[in-house]
Amino acid sequence: MRTTLLDIQTTYDLRRFVTNARNIVITCHLSPDGDAVGSTLALCRVLRNMGKRVDVVTPDMVPRSLHFVPGVRDITAFTINESRARFLVSRADLFFCLDFNSLHRIDKLGELLDKSHAPRVLLDHHLQPEPIFDLFVSYPELSSTCEIVYRVIQEMGWRNYVDKMVAQYIYLGMMTDTGNFTYSSDYPDVYEVLADLVTYNIEKQKIYNLAMNTFSADCLRLQGYALSEKMQLFPDKHAALITLDKNNLERFNYKRGDSEGLVNKPLAIPGIDWVVFLREDPDNIKVSCRSVGDFSVSEICKQHFGGGGHINAAGGDFHGTMDEAIEKVKTIINSINDF
Ligand code: 5GP
Ligand code: MN
Repeated sequence: MRTTLLDIQTTYDLRRFVTNARNIVITCHLSPDGDAVGSTLALCRVLRNMGKRVDVVTPDMVPRSLHFVPGVRDITAFTINESRARFLVSRADLFFCLDFNSLHRIDKLGELLDKSHAPRVLLDHHLQPEPIFDLFVSYPELSSTCEIVYRVIQEMGWRNYVDKMVAQYIYLGMMTDTGNFTYSSDYPDVYEVLADLVTYNIEKQKIYNLAMNTFSADCLRLQGYALSEKMQLFPDKHAALITLDKNNLERFNYKRGDSEGLVNKPLAIPGIDWVVFLREDPDNIKVSCRSVGDFSVSEICKQHFGGGGHINAAGGDFHGTMDEAIEKVKTIINSINDF
């Protein structure tokens, strides 16, 4: 690897935390994606291979589209099994916080973590981490939390605990967070990690097909409908807006995860450089943004929707009606002059 992630002090502290821990809890953000699921399960397996007692606790359920991942059933979701989640968090003497960097990204689980005195280790690649962790391994310029986890494992000398399953978990997150190595992957270290993973005979093509090219008929129809009927283009502003309200979602038997990837689609249109997708969820309107180049949708989401993320992929929430959300987005789009 051309660069290292851990300095001497961080290596020392991490080793001390892990050595002293008897009950480790690993957690990740709401609506876990491939990177969140891959990184938590990979680290969990490595630490278990070391003989540690480790549990993955997520704020909510892993979406159906990721149920093919081995080990997902072993995850405790706070919204599904609150009492077990509470027990595991109260018993924990070490937390690993993966693929998020602010406690509100883990919902009610955040309140529990806040009350616990156990140290928190952050392994993450989102911008601007909150100062609430005892150990920071934060690299927003890197492809994925999975890449960070793998490199930390290597630098800590834990390679002996890596097996094919761990390598496949890591591959899942690196692949999904880079759009199959399209974006966020323009530096050599990504491919050094990849070269290493391939030595474990990972089933690359199978993982790609399961993670990125498998859709239910309802899901395909919903996405087709969204593009055909619910996409507005603002060519002068190089922007696109897609909206799906409650009725639209019900019509296609929407399940969580069914709109995954939709927000990227308008970027295929020449001249469209950023996209906003609004989805009416039960409690709020979920805002999801994508861009190309150095236009930061993370800034947009932070300023206007109480969210954040990465320069080219970010999200947030809107509280109000869909019509109000659409108005707000149009005002933002129109206010941007110098794209
Ligand atoms: P997505 O559009 O796929 O839901 O999210 C894209 C990126 O933005 C992800 O890296 C995710 O972590 C981040 N993100 C999505 N929603 C929120 C949010 O409500 N708050 C913050 N801080 N980040 C978000
Ligand atoms: Mn990620």
